[in-house]
Amino acid sequence: MTCDECLAIAQLLREVRLLSSNWASEEAKIAVDALPGGTEQDMLRAEALLPDLSRFTRALSMRLSHERLTGHKVAWRGPG
Ligand SMILES: [Zn+2]
Repeated sequence: MTCDECLAIAQLLREVRLLSSNWASEEAKIAVDALPGGTEQDMLRAEALLPDLSRFTRALSMRLSHERLTGHKVAWRGPG
């Protein structure tokens, strides 16, 4: 299930991700993938790699709370 809010959050996540070329690095991907449910150390490592991280995590927490409230699934990771 998706809705307008899902789409808006997905768009936001993609935009923030595209802003930083660091997002393309494998190290950054691993660091970000560790964030949901991760430790504070995971957060610090990701922050060091990615200056835009605070915007991203804000969008990520919007996503998580929306998914929790509605049972929707925000699909923001396109192919590649
Ligand atoms: Zn939704």
